[in-house]
Amino acid sequence: GIEFGQSKPQARRVKFSDVAGIDEAVEELQELVRYLKNPELFDKMGIKPPHGVLLEGPPGCGKTLVAKAIAGEAGVPFYQMAGSEFVEVLVGVGSARIRDLFKRAKVNKPSVVFIDEIDALATRRQGIFSESTNYLYNAATQERETTLNQLLIELDGFDTGKGVIFLGATNRMDLLDPALLRPGRFDRKIRIRPPGAKGRLDILKVHARKVRMSPSVDLSTYAQNLPGWTGAKLAQLTQEAALVAVRNGHESILQSDMDDAVDRLTVGPKRVGIELG
Ligand code: ATP
Repeated sequence: GIEFGQSKPQARRVKFSDVAGIDEAVEELQELVRYLKNPELFDKMGIKPPHGVLLEGPPGCGKTLVAKAIAGEAGVPFYQMAGSEFVEVLVGVGSARIRDLFKRAKVNKPSVVFIDEIDALATRRQGIFSESTNYLYNAATQERETTLNQLLIELDGFDTGKGVIFLGATNRMDLLDPALLRPGRFDRKIRIRPPGAKGRLDILKVHARKVRMSPSVDLSTYAQNLPGWTGAKLAQLTQEAALVAVRNGHESILQSDMDDAVDRLTVGPKRVGIELG
């Protein structure tokens, strides 16, 4: 559902220091923070506010995290929904949810609106349907289009809603309806790339701070030897290692706990507790 940055005072706000391995993207996004902190200044300077920013990249590499960090750094409310929450609902509900989301964001501006999996609601529109296409399919498609149209209306109306930054995320850029990518809508695209070895090390360092990691653990070995591991997987690794350490009665995470955790996250199926074969 919708998340209020402000109605959860006890939850620590996400900051750019929680994000690692995507420095270029963060650098570019700093400008949005500057804008959110002082929209009037941008206005006075005659700078057109950014409309929408599309974050593109594979799952688990920090799209949601960095969106939250923008709001966290600027100290403004964060309104989040997933594209999938708009589909397969009753007629008119999807567009009403979009309207409601933007309305709240405008009332509480400056603010950030974030729609994850935007491809779920903004898939390239189909051309012609055959007569045989069943009614339910048509209704669902029509509903999704109504929802997408509402989103486009909101994006186009942004001149009147200054102070609201709209961020969308997708890992299927190719599926997006071209209407969304027209100027004045998503006018910026930022790639969130999977981390390389250096990025993985930086991500591990961020997550090592959140657990009790023994200084004797050489994080760079893991960064080098875990190609393809995303930020989400590395975060899971430190959590798993902490659990293993507790189980082993260690007061902090040791190298052996990390190795064990890597095994557990790599072999998966063997760990369900059922003897196979
Ligand atoms: P999805 O497309 O699945 O939503 P995503 O790119 O939005 O993926 P996040 O949800 O932001 O990924 O990542 C999940 C979690 O993984 C984060 O909350 C964080 O703990 C960790 N994580 C992912 N990327 C990074 C990163 N670049 N730096 C630090 N932690 C990260």
